[in-house]
Amino acid sequence: MTTTQDKNSQAAITPGRALQLLKEGNRRFMTGRGEERELMAQVNATRGGQWPFAIILGCIDSRVPSELIFDAGIGDLFNARVAGNFVNGDILGSMEFACELAGAKLVVVLGHTQCGAIKGACDGVELGNLTGMLARLKPAVEGTSSPVEAAERTSANGLFVRDVTVRNVRMALSDIRERSEVLEALERSGAIRLIGALYDVETGSVEFLD
Ligand SMILES: [Zn+2]
Repeated sequence: MTTTQDKNSQAAITPGRALQLLKEGNRRFMTGRGEERELMAQVNATRGGQWPFAIILGCIDSRVPSELIFDAGIGDLFNARVAGNFVNGDILGSMEFACELAGAKLVVVLGHTQCGAIKGACDGVELGNLTGMLARLKPAVEGTSSPVEAAERTSANGLFVRDVTVRNVRMALSDIRERSEVLEALERSGAIRLIGALYDVETGSVEFLD
C-alpha cells in the first residue's frame, strides 16, 4: 500500500481482498514493520481524486486511529467516527457515498476494548448532549445478558462491558442492513462486504468478527 489507490487499483480490489489488506496492515502495525510512505507524495498523487477501498466506522477514542492501526496511507480509507461507533442517518449517508459513489468495497464497524462510551452507557451516565448520544447504545446494554448470573451490569464488570461492546458492533451491522437499501443491495450483489471488528487497546490487535 505504499503507492496510493487509483481508479484501476481500486476496481481490482474485491471485498475479500480489501479485508486481507486490513489484516495485513494490522499485522505490520503490530510487528512494527509499517510500510514507508512519503505522505506529501501521497497528497500530491491524490490531489485529483480518491479511490479508497474501505470505510471504517470507529469510535472517537484517541487510541484507535484507523490509518495507524491498519498501516494505511492517504487515500486508502474513509472514516466515520462517533463515540460508541453506532449508526445514524448521517453515518449511513456517508457510507452510501463511500461505497455506491466512491467505490469502497468493505464496510468495517470497529468497536474497541475499554470504550468510554460503552462504559458510560452501562453506567447510565447523564451529561448534556452525552445523555442522548449514550441512549443510542442502550439497546446493546439492555440486550446483553450478564456472563455470570446476578453479576454486576456496570462498567466495573469487564466481561459484561466486552459483551456489550461486541453486541453493539453486531447491532450496528444489523442497523446498516435494515436502514440502508443501498448498502444492503450492494452487499447482496457481492459488490461490498460488511464486517464487524474489535480493536484491543492493550495489544494493538484487530479481531474481525465473522
Ligand atoms: Zn470508544
